Amino acid sequence: MQRPYNFSAGPAAMPAEVLEQAAAEMLNWISPAGVASGMGVMEMSHRGKAFISIYEQAEADLRELLAVPSHFKILFMQGGGLAENAIVPMNLMGLRAGQNPAASFVVTGSWSEKSVKEAGKYGRAMLAASGKTDAGYTHIPAASTWQIAPDASYVHICSNETIHGVEFHTLPDLQALGCDAPLVIDFSSHVASRPVDWSKVGLAFGGAQKNLGPAGLTLVVVREDLLGHALPICPSAFDYKLVAANHSMYNTPPTYGIYMAGLVFQWLKRQGGIAAIEARNIAKAQLLYDAIDRSSLYSNTVQADCRSRMNIPFFLQDEHGQALLDAEHPLNAAFLAGAQAAGLLQLKGHKSVGGMRASLYNAIPLDGVQALVAYMQEFERTH
Ligand SMILES: *Cc1c(COP(=O)(O)O)cnc(C)c1O
Repeated sequence: MQRPYNFSAGPAAMPAEVLEQAAAEMLNWISPAGVASGMGVMEMSHRGKAFISIYEQAEADLRELLAVPSHFKILFMQGGGLAENAIVPMNLMGLRAGQNPAASFVVTGSWSEKSVKEAGKYGRAMLAASGKTDAGYTHIPAASTWQIAPDASYVHICSNETIHGVEFHTLPDLQALGCDAPLVIDFSSHVASRPVDWSKVGLAFGGAQKNLGPAGLTLVVVREDLLGHALPICPSAFDYKLVAANHSMYNTPPTYGIYMAGLVFQWLKRQGGIAAIEARNIAKAQLLYDAIDRSSLYSNTVQADCRSRMNIPFFLQDEHGQALLDAEHPLNAAFLAGAQAAGLLQLKGHKSVGGMRASLYNAIPLDGVQALVAYMQEFERTH
């Protein structure tokens, strides 16, 4: 069955093969060796042999795909990206001894804005740089200008801003800036879309529902030396050291989410791994940005060196070149209705910025972007 293309920012499109396999295994999970369990994955004890094998395979596949070094722990948690905005400071603010813990934040869009605000509950959350201008968030301030607090326990960035479409194409090298604090990245919306340079990272976190699987699972990848510094108020279930020591089973983990993400990891391996998927993602994004830049109806104002490959906001313009932010504007409404009829779903922009947004996660094939571009060109010709 050819389904419509789904450009949702999250929860987002999943590969059809993965959904079909999950459907086939819904009532009776069969091990890779062909042994029927007689149970669906949701019904299994997280401590039983069958689920442990699913968990171990998922972890090993993710470690291989993202080339996660052995001195990093992979944790499968709950609470999503927003809970990590509290869990990270509760675990890392105490890295530097002192009564007055601090961390530094680079704000490049809505998600990092939320992170700095939440961290302020647990210590001094310091702004190192902000990309906000009168035009909104359309660039990343040069790392050489960042004002990192000398006593910062860590430095936080959102490596892909899902709402504003601003992505770090390369991660900052804090050591080259004379800073030995670990870098924390919120990679919720571009995890597994490209390789990660772990030599620059202390901790990475992301909700699964953008690019890995269903909502309810949160991925944390953390360097071992950062474990064991949680503030006394940190809930035990969110203390990375305890979670790691219990192989993400200090409490019941999101078992079905881990299973689904595991199917996605196997699908990614069949696609040729992260390098192959990155090449595909570059081609997809290029196609859409080129179509936007060549048209006189559509615009995207993010600077070329930090345009997101995953989340591409764009605006229709009126005859004076004014961006039409309001989703209810007749031209926007016509664009969305026509897209829906053409099998192009969930293109409405985030309510805080308006306009349109196409999210081109791993599960969106090049064909889907070609169909979108063809629709956009036809709409421009006829409106
Ligand atoms: C979606 C998103 C979040 C929030 O995730 P929740 O699972 O809703 O908590 C945080 N950061 C980024 C970059 C996101 O895209």
